[in-house]
Amino acid sequence: MQATLTFLGTGTSMGVPTLGCECAVCRSAVAPAGASGADFRNRRTRPSIHLAWNGHSVLIDTGPDFHAQAIRERVTHVDAVFYTHHHADHILGMDDLRPLSFRNPEPLPLFADEPTEAVLRRVFQYTFRSEDRYPTSARVRIFPLPAGAGAEVTLFGAVFQRIPVIHGRESITGYRFGSAAYLTDMSEIPAESLPLLQDLDILILDALRPEPHPSHSHLAKSVDYVSLLQPRRAFFTHMSHDLDHAATEAILPPHVRLAYDGLKLEFDIAPDSPHSSSQEHGA
Ligand SMILES: [Zn+2]
Ligand SMILES: [Zn+2]
Ligand SMILES: [Zn+2]
Repeated sequence: MQATLTFLGTGTSMGVPTLGCECAVCRSAVAPAGASGADFRNRRTRPSIHLAWNGHSVLIDTGPDFHAQAIRERVTHVDAVFYTHHHADHILGMDDLRPLSFRNPEPLPLFADEPTEAVLRRVFQYTFRSEDRYPTSARVRIFPLPAGAGAEVTLFGAVFQRIPVIHGRESITGYRFGSAAYLTDMSEIPAESLPLLQDLDILILDALRPEPHPSHSHLAKSVDYVSLLQPRRAFFTHMSHDLDHAATEAILPPHVRLAYDGLKLEFDIAPDSPHSSSQEHGA
């Protein structure tokens, strides 16, 4: 079953340009097209992806730039959101689901692990409290992710698998969906997750910057993970202003690329389904 993955944002938590910074990459990100040094691929909003298949529309994370990203990519409906973890750059756009959630007959499902659910309920308490609920709050409902590495949630014929990753001192959630996997915000992939990341078409990995960082993988480490897991293609995300798009891609192997805001990838989201090999006519 063919699906389209769109990178809504590919930046680190501070985004690129980083406010107040005048470095070459930050200047390049906002220079007008055609100006010397301009590269729109260096403009990196806060990280999340959108998945579309058979008319269904699913997000992984809703960062603080979600409103502008949804306008840019014409995301006009959302059927579900999977959350990776509770940091601000991944959850703060939840409130922008409001107008989209009003149209759904049922509350919009949000899938979250336990720590993420707790923070969503605290930050957006006016949405989730049962008494004196703000009347035009998002019509959303949190579904706890099933526990354990490889635990599955099936949605519209696609299976989303929970992939634990280490993010500094915490274990957070990455996802595999069919032949693709999205591992943002990770400093280590634990041994239990490695078998779940075999035979991938697309592997998307955190690669913050050239130098090591305590809670994020860096360029060389992510390249090593690509060598270990051998996906057909790999894309790096959650990047800071320390990585210039063109200069960094020039030193990477050809099957390893930097993602950029608005990049779209086609892949098979249900490789084991009997319809996968045939042409589907999305109803
Ligand atoms: Zn992050
Ligand atoms: Zn900068
Ligand atoms: Zn984080």
